[in-house]
Amino acid sequence: MKTLNLDIETKCNNNCLMCIAPKLDFEITFDHIKNMIDKNKEINEIYLTGGEPTISKHLFKTIDYIKEKNSNTKINIVTNGRMMSNTQFIEKLHEKGIQKFILEIHGDTQKLHEIITQTPKSFIQTIKGIKNIVSLDLPFEIRILVHKLNYKELKNISRLIAEKYENYNKLKVVLMPISYVNSAEKNKEKLFVSLTTIIEYIQKAIDILNEKNIAVKVYHIPFCFFEKRYWKYINEGITTKKINIYYPKECEKCSYKIRCPGVWASYNKINKLETIRPITE
Ligand code: SF4
Repeated sequence: MKTLNLDIETKCNNNCLMCIAPKLDFEITFDHIKNMIDKNKEINEIYLTGGEPTISKHLFKTIDYIKEKNSNTKINIVTNGRMMSNTQFIEKLHEKGIQKFILEIHGDTQKLHEIITQTPKSFIQTIKGIKNIVSLDLPFEIRILVHKLNYKELKNISRLIAEKYENYNKLKVVLMPISYVNSAEKNKEKLFVSLTTIIEYIQKAIDILNEKNIAVKVYHIPFCFFEKRYWKYINEGITTKKINIYYPKECEKCSYKIRCPGVWASYNKINKLETIRPITE
């Protein structure tokens, strides 16, 4: 399956401490968007991204253009979810053909979520957005980006999700450490936490979500950091581009190298990766 991340907006209505999008000071034109769609003919699935794609004036035109070119292309949107709190807006997105919503929850409380987004009311709007997605019975993914400000709350964040969406079989939760680029790099003193430190919290979060039959995946953490029973949750992540991913030399000895997502290259740049344990079975 060939996928394309299509940036349609440089700006965002949140201001997240761990944002990995570059702060760009220009507008993406619709001609540029069309050009990207025309260039990528064999794509099965497009992720509309940004910045925040829901504040792009080109959003609906972009969906129409993708459908005009190939009505079978699956269109997903990677969003902070705030605009989904507007019922008419989400209904229109659904009617136009958005198939999956990918959004983030940063904390178990309004206070923590908004310390991270640096945007008042963002928690209430995102939670209302999710409620609207569920009331339309649509598929969605919640990504929890893990860092120093929220790793100890993973249990509570998972409980919040588990209690609200128990047995909702169109939900997947993704747990992943942040990549230290752009805003996240600038704020690394506030955000950095080692993978070794977060593992037990991630494993506990998986258990909580599992108990409530919620599908869960982990991105960008290698097998050798986890207890074996959690290996089945490991996926390759949001990118496999070599420039973004790091494997130490010892990984050559590991029988899981081919399936291992490695770690963010930016993680290894700011903190030398802890000892890894090549798997030999
Ligand atoms: S040793 Fe390397 S390849 Fe093997 S699981 Fe660990 S990080 Fe991945």
